[in-house]
Amino acid sequence: MNRFGIRIERVFKRAAILAGLSFLGAAFVGAQTRAPGAAKSSATSAGPRDPAEPLAGAPHPQPLPRPAGRVARQSVDEKSMRALIHELVGCGTRLTLSSWDDPKRGAGCGRDKIVARFSAIAKDSGGKLQVVVDKFDSTSPRTGDKPISLENVYAILPGSDEKLAKTLFIVSGHFDSRPSNVMDPEADAPGADDDGSGTAVSVECARLLSRAGANGKGSYRATILFATVSGEEQGLLGSSHLLDWVKQQGYTVGGMFTDDIVGADTAPGGPHRVRVFSGNGEIEDADSPARELARAIEEIDGRSAIRMIFRQDRYGRGGDHYPFYKAGLPAVRFTEPLEDYNHQHQTPRTENGIEYGDFEKYLNFTFMGDVARDNAEALRQLALAPAAPTNVKLTGAVTPDAKVSWSADDDAERAGFEILWRETTEARWSVFDFVEKAGQTVLKDVSTDNHFFAVRSVGKNGARSIAVISEAERRAPPLPSAPKQ
Ligand SMILES: [Zn+2]
Repeated sequence: MNRFGIRIERVFKRAAILAGLSFLGAAFVGAQTRAPGAAKSSATSAGPRDPAEPLAGAPHPQPLPRPAGRVARQSVDEKSMRALIHELVGCGTRLTLSSWDDPKRGAGCGRDKIVARFSAIAKDSGGKLQVVVDKFDSTSPRTGDKPISLENVYAILPGSDEKLAKTLFIVSGHFDSRPSNVMDPEADAPGADDDGSGTAVSVECARLLSRAGANGKGSYRATILFATVSGEEQGLLGSSHLLDWVKQQGYTVGGMFTDDIVGADTAPGGPHRVRVFSGNGEIEDADSPARELARAIEEIDGRSAIRMIFRQDRYGRGGDHYPFYKAGLPAVRFTEPLEDYNHQHQTPRTENGIEYGDFEKYLNFTFMGDVARDNAEALRQLALAPAAPTNVKLTGAVTPDAKVSWSADDDAERAGFEILWRETTEARWSVFDFVEKAGQTVLKDVSTDNHFFAVRSVGKNGARSIAVISEAERRAPPLPSAPKQ
């Protein structure tokens, strides 16, 4: 055969292989759509040459619908959010090192505006919402290593369930602001976006959730804390103290959201998705309670609302979720899609024709209102959910079946548990099965090794707890013996 012939043969062979592959692909798609009980997740995530797992098809339980009574976007009061930020900016600066006594200028002026707004909301809540001003001392290099006195403001909506009322879901913004020099209490620091926006979101969540009837009964099972803290710019002083305060009060943290720089969305084509940052944690395989909280928020609010970023925070930046995250708690950060650094941490001025400063005119209340709604709805559903399962374990290595086990306290309002799984390369969970009781469930013909597994609680009202990843028993593989002499 001449070279030309060889080439034709090669081309033909390649075409035949391609045809064969596309036939196999078509056969696979057909099998996936026809196979009874085939899990949707594996249909989209598994490659076409992998065996179905389990072979007989995964169970496909009918999921309970999510709780009715979603927080409607039109119920967000953008006007009040705008008014609060305007009042905060009117305090000139809210640097933590500025005055706490002057009603017209400084951090104390900011505190007063928030207390007034929370109190008005509390009045409308029929006395359910409690306003607390928490005074404390703290020290950091950014206080000149001298103790200073500062204050946080909280509004607390107590949970209705005797046990779950000790579980706290927190939304927080920081009301302190800063000019270019973080030690300068004299310079103006309007802080409209950083973090007037997060403060307004936390306060608006208090209004939305303390008024709206949850589940037709007007209450949530767990307690919700709407926080506005100070000292963020001096080194996360307010949120570090908040973590101590929460522990002293005997609460368990069910989830902590910090909203920081959530007020602007300047790129064309908005409103865009808000970013939700969550750290990996220190669990093997890069999972963490923070990551589970981020997934829960995305599932509640939708992928068109939330952009999950699998990173603890933006590079070189920090936020009030960090002390909670470092304590191993589920804590995430909400931040606008693309930040403009000329409008953050800058003393107002114009230089070379560029305007610097964190002014109200750059805010976008369509976007900020979306963020408020997304926070409120996620808090609502999480505070309606049963407690997350504990002690979630994966066993069954080197056997044909994975076994998942977990514990949970008695709860008459719980329907059961969803066992979740995902490919190790997937970002999101799928529901594998639903079971009513805690204990052990055998996942027949499912390898322990090809997926991650988690469990979450499901209320009769359809509210889900955050997922708890299963921890596997780990055996050290046999290593080579010392070389023979
Ligand atoms: Zn900030």
